[in-house]
Amino acid sequence: NSNRGHVAHADAITSNSIAHADANTSKKKKVVVLGTGWAGMSFLKNLNNSTYEVKVVSPRNFFVFTPLLPSVTCGKVEARSIVEPIRNIIRKKNINVSYCEAECIKIDPANKKIYCRAARATLNTNSKQGEEFAVGYDYLIIAVGAQVNTFNTPGVEGNCHFLKEIEDAQKIRKNVIESFEKASLPNLSEEERKKILHFVVVGGGPTGVEFSGELRDFVNEDVLKLYPTVQHLVKITVIEATDHVLNMFDKRITKFAESKFLRDDIDVKLGSMVTKITENEISTKAKGSDKTTSMPYGMVLWSTGIGQRPLIKDFMKQIGQGNRRALATDEWLRVEGCDNVYALGDCATINQRKVVEDIAEIFKRADKDNSGKLTVKKFTEIMDDVIARYPQVKLYMKSKRVRNFVDILTEAKGNAAKETIELSIEEFKTALSVVDSKMKNLPATAQVANQQGAYLAKCFNRMEDCEKNPEGPPRFRGTGRHRFHPFRYRHLGQFAPLGGEKTAAQLPGDWVSIGHSSQWLWYSIYASKQVSWRTRALVVSDWIRRFIFGRDASG
Ligand code: FAD
Ligand code: MG
Ligand code: MG
Ligand code: MG
Ligand code: MG
Repeated sequence: NSNRGHVAHADAITSNSIAHADANTSKKKKVVVLGTGWAGMSFLKNLNNSTYEVKVVSPRNFFVFTPLLPSVTCGKVEARSIVEPIRNIIRKKNINVSYCEAECIKIDPANKKIYCRAARATLNTNSKQGEEFAVGYDYLIIAVGAQVNTFNTPGVEGNCHFLKEIEDAQKIRKNVIESFEKASLPNLSEEERKKILHFVVVGGGPTGVEFSGELRDFVNEDVLKLYPTVQHLVKITVIEATDHVLNMFDKRITKFAESKFLRDDIDVKLGSMVTKITENEISTKAKGSDKTTSMPYGMVLWSTGIGQRPLIKDFMKQIGQGNRRALATDEWLRVEGCDNVYALGDCATINQRKVVEDIAEIFKRADKDNSGKLTVKKFTEIMDDVIARYPQVKLYMKSKRVRNFVDILTEAKGNAAKETIELSIEEFKTALSVVDSKMKNLPATAQVANQQGAYLAKCFNRMEDCEKNPEGPPRFRGTGRHRFHPFRYRHLGQFAPLGGEKTAAQLPGDWVSIGHSSQWLWYSIYASKQVSWRTRALVVSDWIRRFIFGRDASG
């Protein structure tokens, strides 16, 4: 190494510019990004500080626009239209970004190294597995997402379809069409045709519900014309373990979805757990009963939720997070118990600091005259600082469903008039603990992953500041200006497409809309969210093509 430095130095005498470039590269901090999904893509798109040398490692050399995956399953949108090659995304950068088609198999934080395995075997080896190699880093960004969770239910692996990757969607599409072709063959009994055309969806979350709607549309709009003899034999069943589908949505949406499915002849089995799946039958158990019932099926989609990848489970054990459910980071997305490692998206959760943990400090800072008593006025003065550090306070105040924050302080004092209230530290603590109790983990969505990627890129763009203030914002310095606020999620609302050109939308402020108008909102938002003009054009033309010509039923 010192030898190379010497050479560079000698060069400097003859050719200043070359030596300079060389010295620059060796000084550049190496950032390694794992994953080319929502979080990784968003980080790469927003990073613009050329003092880094970035290496992207992912077994998948493209980004997938996951919200449109369900549309691929029945041919509303083509698979190609929702993927963007990662090399297209990184080549537009002014920064030195390289890509490596490989899977990270181990993280070694002590030596700042990761171990990788090439995604495809190279030509000159006999083994089917790709070669292994190590990559060093200065900063590691983990954005590997999550995997399907089977909850160890016997028979799921091997008998069910999943819907996570683009190949999954393509396989489902092929299988759906095959089912109709098979059921149309001669010499089958009515029972056999019915079995083949029984589509089961396990999990009544957004993905399961959307797939059911897509399938119902396909049957109503295209199968009717293409397979008229078997159309009446189709059955769609949704199995959900809890009491309602679309749990995470407003009750109005849940209700609408359930009644729409009833009208559409989609059989929704609520409070039903899948206990076993064999090649021909799926067994379920109703909540609170010991009896299992089995039914024959043709195809099952398993979409019950996500679990951590083995790489992440391993890493968590290594850094003493073995008993947690997801990789924990602080509010700046830094992995707890590990230097220079960041994690975001579905593989991570933010361990939000509780207000109550810092109650003494907050109290002291608000109580400027050291009287040991806090007034509403004193608290209001520091509220902005508190909110910057503890976003849950803001969440609490903004929401219509809960009382205003000052009301809590007043109530702690038996509803005295605002001006006269004086709280001791103990009373203050009790009043604030309710705020912490409303804290929720962020959902595993593209929206969160996308915002986290953009946030982290901004931090990296201004890393010098960040290094001066490693703890983020100068918490209570009274400037009111925060250099590095913690990550704050802005919920922009969510959609649940239900089929039949109807979508349920739940926007901030408890605004709910269901029907054709929100379907158009959905079309326009999903067109605008595409990562490139290329995919945008492809997706929109797929939609138009389907409106005019119907779905392509070859497979
Ligand atoms: P991912 O996007 O899953 O990306 C993970 C990346 O890491 C991939 O590129 C993967 O190849 C790579 N990787 C995996 N293992 C390794 C490894 N060992 N080493 C290196 N790289 C690795 N969210 C919404 O907000 N709205 C929606 O409408 C919506 N619809 C959805 C529909 C479906 C069918 C699905 C499956 C998800 C949907 N989501 C939606 C959720 C959203 O897709 C995820 O929350 C989001 O993809 C998470 O982003 P991520 O970057 O953490 O993970
Ligand atoms: Mg990612
Ligand atoms: Mg993705
Ligand atoms: Mg994932
Ligand atoms: Mg997360």
